[in-house]
Amino acid sequence: MLAYLDHQASTPCDPAVLNAMEPWWREHCANPSSRLHRESLTAAAAVERARAQVAAALGAEPGDVVFTSGATEANNLALKGVCEAALAQGGERRRLLTLATEHRAVLDPLRYLERHGFPLTVLPVDSGGLVQEELLAAALGPDVLLASVMAANNEIGVLQPISTIAAHCHHHGVLLHVDAAQAAGHIPLAMAEQGVDLLSLSGHKCYGPKGVGALLVRQGVALAAQLHGGGQEQQRRAGTVAVPLVVGLGEALSRAVADQQERAARLGSLRDQLRQELLALGGITLNGAAAPRLAHNLNVTVGGVDGAALHRLLRRSIAVSSGSACSQGSPSHVLAALGRSRSEAAASIRFGLGRSTGAAEIERAVASVEAALRQLRP
Ligand SMILES: *Cc1c(COP(=O)(O)O)cnc(C)c1O
Repeated sequence: MLAYLDHQASTPCDPAVLNAMEPWWREHCANPSSRLHRESLTAAAAVERARAQVAAALGAEPGDVVFTSGATEANNLALKGVCEAALAQGGERRRLLTLATEHRAVLDPLRYLERHGFPLTVLPVDSGGLVQEELLAAALGPDVLLASVMAANNEIGVLQPISTIAAHCHHHGVLLHVDAAQAAGHIPLAMAEQGVDLLSLSGHKCYGPKGVGALLVRQGVALAAQLHGGGQEQQRRAGTVAVPLVVGLGEALSRAVADQQERAARLGSLRDQLRQELLALGGITLNGAAAPRLAHNLNVTVGGVDGAALHRLLRRSIAVSSGSACSQGSPSHVLAALGRSRSEAAASIRFGLGRSTGAAEIERAVASVEAALRQLRP
């Protein structure tokens, strides 16, 4: 069997989460919005329980939570929803700020908004992939409406200093959106305490089901709905709530938070071992700052080999990625932002460890890279 080391692309669904969802697939079919019969009220109560679980996991209020189909939709709702509300309110602020290393699900909606009258500033990062505070501070001003900065990078795992960024933003009256798809359930997050205005997350990045996520919106932030229809989710996202998926998301997130610390400690030492053994092979360099970063991520560039040939050999025994699962074909814009060339980016490997990872997977990974190098290096 392949050693699955691609947990940044997707995590397996926790069996306890499957159990929690099962009655909502098998037994209960009522629409939680009907509210006229007991079955509907039962479904509505399950949705509200999940809402409370999501809010508690993120240090937010249940009323902040808008369930969506995933982090992509949550990002689109946050960015387009804030811009549309600002247009309606007639304020002067139009400029949007972000980092060059953001996920496509942030960059693409921002570029779309740029074409529709919202000028965009994309800030470079330092060689470790972290925000440059002085560049951010200089870019903020009375024309800026919103900044979008991810909590944890999906390719190189580095963590941005969210509380510091929020303080800079709020000093200038700028809203902060955080794509926390890779962070929720993996590192401590406290939305209110950290000063985050909008936060996106995804079920399948924290051991929950695919096709569900949430946008958390701090009370008082004006947001225009992007899906119009039935007025669900307090008029912020029309469409029947996906009861089984939402139940799964709540359960997954609260379980991921519960074993977060222990998991990070265990995976962090496996990851350090992997890094050490890979670097010992020679000609391999780390991408992204060594700290602060996700305990379960490692991204390296293998020098002197062809990336396509390397990945062709690796995929016989391990499931890893050469960048983001979401930008197939094109070289990684994240590694490019760190100064990596096209061929260096192609010869890079992202290892994403997870709950199922043990010593055997790490040994397999090292042996696979070693064997590939023996074949590819003269
Ligand atoms: C996976 C991911 C997304 C997209 O999430 P979906 O739920 O698959 O739409 C967005 N941002 C980041 C950082 C991600 O890792």
